[in-house]
Amino acid sequence: MKATLWGTRGSLARSGPETLRYGGDTSSVEVRGSDDSLIVIDAGSGILRLGENIGDPPSRIDLLLSHLHMDHIQGLGFFTPLYAPDIEVHIWGPVSATQDLRSRLTRYLSPPLFPVRLRDLASVEIHDLQPGVLELGAITVTAEIVTHPGHTMGLRLEDEAGVLTYISDHEPALGVTDFPRSAEWTSGAALAEGANVLIHDAQYTDEEYEERVGWGHSSFKHAVAFAELVGAKKMVTFHHDPSHSDDFLDLVTGSLRSDSVEIVGGTVGAEFVVGS
Ligand SMILES: [Zn+2]
Ligand SMILES: [Zn+2]
Repeated sequence: MKATLWGTRGSLARSGPETLRYGGDTSSVEVRGSDDSLIVIDAGSGILRLGENIGDPPSRIDLLLSHLHMDHIQGLGFFTPLYAPDIEVHIWGPVSATQDLRSRLTRYLSPPLFPVRLRDLASVEIHDLQPGVLELGAITVTAEIVTHPGHTMGLRLEDEAGVLTYISDHEPALGVTDFPRSAEWTSGAALAEGANVLIHDAQYTDEEYEERVGWGHSSFKHAVAFAELVGAKKMVTFHHDPSHSDDFLDLVTGSLRSDSVEIVGGTVGAEFVVGS
């Protein structure tokens, strides 16, 4: 299994010379299975370049939406395989008690917000994703609700080589004094347990977090503490705040220390082979 980061920014895309290395596009990650199957996680603005760089188009793509905040779906209508009749695209997103996923996505993919209607895309199938296990080719996906406003799924992708966990928007420290406590009572811990690669929310400095408790995100230190708690081997910082420049992220990421976890700054285009 191999993961490539095409969109790493959180909340709002931020283009410009100050975000060239970490990337200005919002969340989108390509995952290739050992059988070359293609899973795309999230449809932020990074999905445009992902779609342009797919290479030989596969007959099927599974697109997993962690949740429906705009920074995770705003690129959806620009994912060119949606318009290719010979490519089956299966879109999976968190189930809701009020409306099915098609109805919720149609609120964005219909006029006046978008010129194309979701129902006009013939080769797209929409699935409400329940918490639990889903087999996609050689990859077993486990989805669970994590601490973030609205219905938000963390994802654990596992094959014979190892585990990739994606929790892009996550505030496991919410309401916890002396974070972290036991893994058993920590949001997302089972999803990330022993992960070879953990892609995790690391949006704020300590000072920024103090002002934004309850907004649904982690500080850099919370991300490291979470990775240590679950025994992850490598933690990739993700969902970079729009106000954080490349130089700033280098400085902060370089200052993070862990005895047990390798900490890597999530730069756009970075590739991670899971299990090697
Ligand atoms: Zn987000
Ligand atoms: Zn969000």
